Amino acid sequence: MRDIYEVFAIKYATHKRTSELNFMDPPDIHDGPMPTDYFIWLARSEQHTFVIDTGFNAETADARGRELIRCPTAGLALLDVDAKDVNDVIITHLHYDHVGNFDLFPNTRFHLQDSEMAFATGRYMRHKPFRAPMDVEHVVGMVRQVYAERVVFHDGDADLASGLSVHHIGGHTAGLQVVRVNTRRGWLVLASDASHLYANMERGNPYPIIFREDQMLEGWQTLRRLADSEAHIIPGHDPKVMDLYPAPSDDLRGIIVRLD
Ligand SMILES: [Zn+2]
Repeated sequence: MRDIYEVFAIKYATHKRTSELNFMDPPDIHDGPMPTDYFIWLARSEQHTFVIDTGFNAETADARGRELIRCPTAGLALLDVDAKDVNDVIITHLHYDHVGNFDLFPNTRFHLQDSEMAFATGRYMRHKPFRAPMDVEHVVGMVRQVYAERVVFHDGDADLASGLSVHHIGGHTAGLQVVRVNTRRGWLVLASDASHLYANMERGNPYPIIFREDQMLEGWQTLRRLADSEAHIIPGHDPKVMDLYPAPSDDLRGIIVRLD
């Protein structure tokens, strides 16, 4: 029997913006405000706990003009998960809003694609569009984690536990990976930035931060193949996720939703 996971989206920050920032081919001006939310995710079965991404901290929020709601680890604590006890963190990619706070997980292994570390430390970082969403301190910090033997590298698809696997997509960054997880309602895919918003996939109009458009477009097909239905794909930054899914309890309304 495959493990069955509870899966949570934990909102930790938000950014008020207009729609043209969210699409490569900007929509009509009257699309108007289209904010983005920032999440980390938790997948846990009776046997395993995986944290997916680690968010950013107050300093980064100030520097980049984002509104931090609470430290992502405080969100985990609301689900009785102590960051210090987490053994497995999956880093979908090395952008500042996905890998900050890695230092708050002192006992974890970080699961990362080979191609993402190569991307973040290689020739493409000479170009501002590729390095702007990275924070060099995060990247150098993750290199230190490699030397401390705390990074588990994956090259493509890999099973991390019964009922949970990672899949290389690329597109948004060279080594972006998504997480496929078995739940009571079937196979769910945490797409992270393979699709920022539902609308990116639905309209076939990618988010403008992009490394390879071919992989981005093909990646949506991969998401659809991996998930049991469109409703099993969870985009990385869509505020609609908070409306579509229920809070695990009344006191967590507006903070955490249960995706399974
Ligand atoms: Zn990103």
